[in-house]
Amino acid sequence: MDDEALEPGKGLDKRNAETARSLLAKAQAAANSAYVPYSKFPVGAALLTASGEVFTGANVENASYGLTVCAERTAVFAAALAGHREIVAIAVSAPRALRASPCGACRQVLNEFAPAQVEMTIVLESEDGFKTTTLGNLLPMAFGPRDLT
Ligand SMILES: [Zn+2]
Repeated sequence: MDDEALEPGKGLDKRNAETARSLLAKAQAAANSAYVPYSKFPVGAALLTASGEVFTGANVENASYGLTVCAERTAVFAAALAGHREIVAIAVSAPRALRASPCGACRQVLNEFAPAQVEMTIVLESEDGFKTTTLGNLLPMAFGPRDLT
């Protein structure tokens, strides 16, 4: 991803840089919980709900490779199961790949819980700490729940 593609997230503005740093630190810690015996590619995620709660996740692999679930989705499912329906930001950390970005499947799952009033901020690791972008940048013209109403 180019630097130019990354911009301050609208849902988590520059004043909230400390929140972004905090989320990224939690994502980095969550990567330590990843179950990755096959790829040895741990990923951690930490998301912030509209009500201010944080949920973390890590990737969980399976001997039947296709059943593997990404860090972002384990975090989203934990938040959803706890009753949350709006995610305002998510940080992703992959210790072996700086700036690892959510895969296509995770982008679609994140879109399901995109807030109605603000853009979801995506926090990625970078050489100088972190960069932010928005889900709208990662998944333009998304199909989502509002298309079904
Ligand atoms: Zn994914």
